[in-house]
Amino acid sequence: MEARFALPNLMLQALPVLEALVQQGFEAVFVGGCVRDTAMGLPIKDVDIATSARPEQVMSIFPRCIPTGLQHGTVTVLQHGGSYEVTTFRTESEYEKHRRPLQVEFIDRLDGDLLRRDLTINAMAMNAEGELYDPFRGLSDLKRKTVRCVGDADARFQEDALRMLRTIRFASQFEFTIAHSTWRALIKHRGLLRHIAMERVQAELDRMIGGAHPGRALQLLAACKLLKNTGTVLPAAEKLDQVQSTHYCDLNKLDEPETRYAALLITGGITLRDAEETLEALRLPARKMNAILSVLSVQSAMNQQNRNADLRHVWTSTVLQYGEEASRRWLTIIAWDNKHSLHHLCNLFDKWLAGMTAITLKQLKLNGKQLAEGLRMEPGAWTGQLLKRLLLEVALDKLPNEKDALLKQAQIWNIEDR
Ligand code: ATP
Ligand code: MG
Repeated sequence: MEARFALPNLMLQALPVLEALVQQGFEAVFVGGCVRDTAMGLPIKDVDIATSARPEQVMSIFPRCIPTGLQHGTVTVLQHGGSYEVTTFRTESEYEKHRRPLQVEFIDRLDGDLLRRDLTINAMAMNAEGELYDPFRGLSDLKRKTVRCVGDADARFQEDALRMLRTIRFASQFEFTIAHSTWRALIKHRGLLRHIAMERVQAELDRMIGGAHPGRALQLLAACKLLKNTGTVLPAAEKLDQVQSTHYCDLNKLDEPETRYAALLITGGITLRDAEETLEALRLPARKMNAILSVLSVQSAMNQQNRNADLRHVWTSTVLQYGEEASRRWLTIIAWDNKHSLHHLCNLFDKWLAGMTAITLKQLKLNGKQLAEGLRMEPGAWTGQLLKRLLLEVALDKLPNEKDALLKQAQIWNIEDR
C-alpha cells in the first residue's frame, strides 16, 4: 500500500456502488479527479468509478442507470440521490487525427486503464478503504507540484492534442509547474491543436479563465504560443501572447468570467472587431459573447470620448446605450487595472452611475402612450426618440423622474422643434 486517505462524504456516499460491484466479483475503484483532489485535500466535484465489469454487467447490477456512453463503456448509476459515472476498464488504440480513439477496447486490468490517462496526477486509483493505487507516481508529482504526462509525452500529445490544453489547465489551476519533458513535447506538438474542435478548445479555455489562476494560464499559453495553433484563427491570440504576464496576475480578483474575458481583451488592447471574431471562432454561447462585447463597447465609447466633451454626458449616454450590467463590469475593470487611462476616474463614474434614477425606458415615469396623449399627437417613431431624450435628462439629474415634469419638458421641446 502506498498511501491511505480518508474518503470525503461524496465518495462515502458512492461506496455502496463500489461494494456492489466488488461483491459480484468485479474489481472497482475510484479514479480521476476525485482521487486527485482527495489526495490534495481539496473538496471533490464528482465521483468517477472504474470497473472490470462490462457495461451490460453494470446495468444488470443496478436497476437505475443511464447508458451515458456505452461505446466508451460509461454507465451513469443513480443511487440514493447521487449519480456516479461507472466506466469499464479500457484501453484506447489508434487515434483518429490526434483527437479521438478509433477503437476502445475493454480490458480486465486496472493498470491498462490508468495507462491511457493523460497526466500522472489524474492516473491514480483509490479503493473503498481509501488506499491509493499509483503506478505512475502521481502522488510524488502532486507533492512536487508537477504536471507530467503518463508515459511518453510525445506520444500522448500526438494521440490526443487536447491534452496539451488540459496540461496547462491543471498546471494553472493548482499553480503547478510542467515537467520538462512534458513541456518540450507540448512545444513540439502545439501545431496539432488545429485538429481539435473549437468547442473543446473553448471549454478548456473557459475553465482556465473561470478558474483559480487565470493569469497563470494566460502566461503559460503565451509562453508556448498554443492559441496561435487553433483550427480557426483567433485574431486576438497574437496580441494576447505579447501582453506582459504581470498585467494578468490578479485577474482572479474579478469575480465573473465575463468580466475576466473583457478585462483580458481590454488590457490586451484587442479591438472590438478582433474580439468579436475571436469569441465567435471560439463558439462562445451568444449570451456570454454579447455580455463580453457590450463591455468592450463601453470601453470603446469611453476611450473615444473627445477631451473637451462633457465627461458626465459621455458616461451617462454610454450607460444608457449599453446598459447597467456592461457599464458596471467596465467600471470593475478600470478600478482593477491601475494602468487604465481612466483608472483615476472610476469613483466619479461610480458616483454618477449610482445617482441615475432611471437607466432604461421602463424605469421612466412616462410611457409612449402617455407622451402621445399629452402632446395630442399620433404615436410613432418620434415617441421612442423623445422618451430617450427625456431619459438622458433624467439620468443626468437635470430633470426629475416624474410624469408631469417629463411631459412638460416634452411639450417645451415639441414647441422649440417646430
Ligand atoms: P475535473 O476536476 O476538472 O473534472 P478530472 O480529472 O475529473 O478533473 P475530467 O475531464 O472529468 O477531469 O476527466 C476524468 C479523468 O479522465 C481524468 O482525471 C483523466 O484520468 C481522464 N481523462 C480525461 N480526459 C482525458 C484525455 N483527453 N486523455 C486522457 N485521459 C483523460
Ligand atoms: Mg471530472
